[in-house]
Amino acid sequence: MPLYDYRCQACGTRFQSRHGFNDPVPSCPACQSANIQRLIMTAPAIARGMLALAGDSRGATKEQLRAKWAEETPRLRKKLVDKLGEDAVNRYAPTLNTSYE
Ligand SMILES: [Zn+2]
Repeated sequence: MPLYDYRCQACGTRFQSRHGFNDPVPSCPACQSANIQRLIMTAPAIARGMLALAGDSRGATKEQLRAKWAEETPRLRKKLVDKLGEDAVNRYAPTLNTSYE
């Protein structure tokens, strides 16, 4: 079963939960709130996150973002495939199969 990342809207706790696609969303392990958000990273968000980690998010051009995306995505994708399997990555992280536009 795939592992999902969540963030609690009530207290801000981030947690992971492994469950089936059609199972109900879990509640927050810290405050039991059901008001949680599944974290889904889009291509631009991932690219900006990478640049932020590199200490370089401000003033990044589209070209820099695209270059960073092209460089980092295959590595990130491989990590996810190792962790979740090829099928899960194709299904839940399809943006990793695309190029940054
Ligand atoms: Zn909470």
